[in-house]
Amino acid sequence: MSFAQSKWGWMNGEIILWENATTHVSAHGLHYGTGVFEGVRCYETPNGPAVFRLDAHLDRLYASAESCGMLIPFNAGELAEAICQVVRRNDFRDCYIRPLCYYGSGVLGLNPRACPVEVAVLAWPWETYLGAEGLEQGVSITISPWRKFHSSMMPTKAKACGQYINSVLALRDALDRGYAEALLLDADGHLAEGSGENLFLVRGNQVITNDECHSILPGITRDSVLRIARDLGFEVEVRTLSVAELLAAEEAFFTGTAAEVTPISEVCRRSGSRFFLCRLVTSGLFATRCVDERLVPGLQCSPRDSNPITNW
Ligand code: PMP
Repeated sequence: MSFAQSKWGWMNGEIILWENATTHVSAHGLHYGTGVFEGVRCYETPNGPAVFRLDAHLDRLYASAESCGMLIPFNAGELAEAICQVVRRNDFRDCYIRPLCYYGSGVLGLNPRACPVEVAVLAWPWETYLGAEGLEQGVSITISPWRKFHSSMMPTKAKACGQYINSVLALRDALDRGYAEALLLDADGHLAEGSGENLFLVRGNQVITNDECHSILPGITRDSVLRIARDLGFEVEVRTLSVAELLAAEEAFFTGTAAEVTPISEVCRRSGSRFFLCRLVTSGLFATRCVDERLVPGLQCSPRDSNPITNW
């Protein structure tokens, strides 16, 4: 991952040079993590670059802001346009897009109300999050000693900046112990999710995942994969998942905007995934990239001027 090709960003209503997308060190968000953000992907398609499910990402951004009591001073149409502008001005085809809203400089008491809400959009090429080999061969994961915080402690359904300390701790611990990713348990010891991904298990014709009762961030990729799995004729179950079930699963995989659909090849060094469904679902997601309406009805895209396509 590199920012070398990112020449333009967007901040508070204007396209600006990447190097001018700066903030003062006294910004509230920098001290207390008071911000919300999204991770969005844009893919090259035969009809031009298309932003994958932008409406769903913007809905979650506004919902995250609301659960933190933050008012975003731009509407969803304006942010959609800002995102398209950033992709277009940088001349990106495939890229990752990061809209961010945070409390800027004003006061440094805990109450951020007197701070302005700053809004920025960045984009950069980001091919694979867990590595090209991980996407193909699967990743080795560990169960984290860090638990995922409970919804009575933090708004788990919000993608809020400060909450990611939990993910950073879990990932660093996993990497330090030689694993590619961490799987966090919830406060009750059930499976929650990866540091930046949702989890799916497969047994026979069943595709199983958990939901927000288990402290997950409900992913937009998760939602697409659920639809694709149903569409492919799998029996989908959304329920509590245990460590024992993970170890007994025939397959397991992570889903996320950055990680896309990444097979899990080993859990705490136990190996045995077959990858069958994972490959099918991956090809399903790739089919949405190629605008295959038969596989995933409702996720098709349509061209809109020279802008990236946004209504997948
Ligand atoms: N859980 C966490 C903690 C995440 O950070 C992400 C990435 N946004 C996900 C799940 C997957 O969400 P999505 O598919 O919307 O990217």
